[in-house]
Amino acid sequence: MPELPEVETVRRTLLPLVVGKTIERVKVHWEKIIQHPDVETFCDRLQGQTIRDIQRRGKFLMFQLDNVVLVSHLRMEGRYICENEHAPFDRHTHIFFTFTDRTELRYRDVRKFGTMHLFNKGDELNAPPLSNIGREPLDEQLTVSWLSDQLRRIKRTIKATLLDQTIIAGLGNIYVDEVLFRSFIHPERAASTLTVQEVEALHRAIIETIREAIEKGGSTVRTYVNTQGKSGTFQNELYVYGRANMPCRRCGNLIIKTVVANRGTHYCETCQK
Ligand code: ZN
Repeated sequence: MPELPEVETVRRTLLPLVVGKTIERVKVHWEKIIQHPDVETFCDRLQGQTIRDIQRRGKFLMFQLDNVVLVSHLRMEGRYICENEHAPFDRHTHIFFTFTDRTELRYRDVRKFGTMHLFNKGDELNAPPLSNIGREPLDEQLTVSWLSDQLRRIKRTIKATLLDQTIIAGLGNIYVDEVLFRSFIHPERAASTLTVQEVEALHRAIIETIREAIEKGGSTVRTYVNTQGKSGTFQNELYVYGRANMPCRRCGNLIIKTVVANRGTHYCETCQK
């Protein structure tokens, strides 16, 4: 599943390809992807609108048009492709935004788990899926004292807590495992038991890991490839994720894979306490 760095990479790749383009018509081949409003209204409202900007909140892309905002989540396999309107497409291509310049933004999703919501501008943060979204990892508002206040009250594991999108937005399984390794915290620790020094280390690890992953274009794990078909390279920098039974890059002991918060979890039992 693409996480924040991968979605940010998609955003940056798409920006020069679609900003300033005006939508002539929208075709939807798989209706369930459109969660709000109904498909007919979705297509009608987008007609004639120009894409002004693309923003991101957590793992959601927000296409800013003249007076509507399209909120898109790629889930497992969703991806955007820019093509000439006559270019061939396969059966996994479900939504077509045709522009007045004869190019097309296409949404392809093999698993069909992705979602789109369309709102009037200004309403997008007041309704699901964005109404309850947590703080951005790279936002100044994510301070050590705020994080420490949140964690103090949480009895769940730190792994489950970091996966909770209503606290910090955009961290998924790969980056949570990496952040916990970099801060030397065991994934099964209860969030409330972290010391001040550990919260500081965690805060630093979140920022550094996400920043580095964005610089490298994200991680290409399994099928994720960004919009232009380019792979990110951050997977080569991973310390624990996907490295079960391989030597820890820090101490040499074997990386363990177990299940925490119902997710495959990788850690080093020597380095992480
Ligand atoms: Zn180690």
